[in-house]
Amino acid sequence: MQLPASFLSSIENANGFAKDAFEKVHSSGEQITSIRINPFKQETGVINFPNNHRKRIPWTQCGYYLESRPSFTFDPLFHAGCYYVQEASSMFLEQALKQKVDLSKHLKVLDLCAAPGGKSTHIQTLLSENSLLVSNEVIRSRANILKDNIIKWGCENVVVTNNDPRDFAKLKNYFDVIVVDAPCSGSGLFRRDPEAIEEWSENNVQLCSQRQQRIIADVWPALKRDGILVYSTCSYSKEEDEDIVKWLLSEFQVVNRTLQVDPSWGIVESEGGYRFWPDKLRGEGFFLACFQKKEGETETTVRTRKKPELLSKKEIEVVEKWVKLQGKNFIRYQNTVYAWPEVNFSDFCFLLEQLRIVYSGVLVGELMREKLVPGHSLAMSNIFADSVSRVPLSGEDAIKYLQRKDIQLNTPGKGWSLAEYDGHPLGWLNILPNRANNYYPKELRILKDI
Ligand code: SAM
Repeated sequence: MQLPASFLSSIENANGFAKDAFEKVHSSGEQITSIRINPFKQETGVINFPNNHRKRIPWTQCGYYLESRPSFTFDPLFHAGCYYVQEASSMFLEQALKQKVDLSKHLKVLDLCAAPGGKSTHIQTLLSENSLLVSNEVIRSRANILKDNIIKWGCENVVVTNNDPRDFAKLKNYFDVIVVDAPCSGSGLFRRDPEAIEEWSENNVQLCSQRQQRIIADVWPALKRDGILVYSTCSYSKEEDEDIVKWLLSEFQVVNRTLQVDPSWGIVESEGGYRFWPDKLRGEGFFLACFQKKEGETETTVRTRKKPELLSKKEIEVVEKWVKLQGKNFIRYQNTVYAWPEVNFSDFCFLLEQLRIVYSGVLVGELMREKLVPGHSLAMSNIFADSVSRVPLSGEDAIKYLQRKDIQLNTPGKGWSLAEYDGHPLGWLNILPNRANNYYPKELRILKDI
């Protein structure tokens, strides 16, 4: 891998840059694979890949390095949302949140640049049950990928939106925490994606830096006084990292918040932020800085004009065979039923009026002639009723199911049942006396053959 001389000279003054080691690690061909386990689904916190030792990533509780890269596509637990494949350095976000935010509180958090959902699924596991996460992506097609990953993770307290950062300005003083994992020139991922080297230019670094300032300035009013802003990039360029820290401190009433970092982790402290260099630790290039806002108000009023339609008593009787009712409000939009957390009901209504919502709570299913056709998101969540029938599948059948192929079952007709692998639901089957209909969503099916 040949790194352009113009790129290397542009980062030579960056804190922690060691040219020889940096070039060596890029030409070594080494690839690092890491995953983050979903603690809501994988109670033991353990996933074993055959012949593949795991090692904990030191700055995060549920993150692990794998010795080699298994085929995630053909692992049913990947599709069950038991873990997320995520770059190790970026899991450092956990330290910022754990050290600078009281996570036991009822918080409102915005992940502004969220697709495909690595940080959002991570943030969601760190928040208290009553907290609310708005997971936003400005690009529509990417917002759909984000939605699929949020559904797979099995979250109830997340609202996925498709808005421009400037749309959040009207939500004045609303969020306790805003995470801006900004679009950047991407040099931090060169080792993983050498083709990206072709696209790097000093001009693009400048454009990214200006865009990062614009994004922060646009969303700034939505952070409440004393609220925490976490800013991160996967770029090595100072223009996108330390210079943004300086710009923020000069433009706004804000204080830079420092973090406790174990020296053995190999992270470089740099002018108010933290740099990750692949020659110093097992992870890709990353930068993160943390701030506390010192202007604006600490509270906001949430007013809504119109509430969505709630299910009638009769409809609730239909739904309760499928869902644990406790702590939820059920709303309907045409025939579609959503479960929203009761504690966040007013906020969900408020956001529905203010933003372009792509997904919210859990889509329970479609009401049709006094029956419910269960939705895939219900199968992925933790809120389906204990009485729902479950059908264990072998590894081979689980893959066939995920490919949306027919599977032969010896079980007599049980009607709607959760197809599961190793105790983890994959989706719905409708088991009739002579066949089982596969309801795995067509758009998610595995297209490859083993
Ligand atoms: N946080 C994500 C994760 O952990 O999976 C990765 C986010 S990626 C670094 C940056 C995201 O910002 C991309 O999804 C990109 O589409 C989005 N983006 C691009 N231009 C943007 C803009 N002008 N405002 C806000 N977001 C933008």
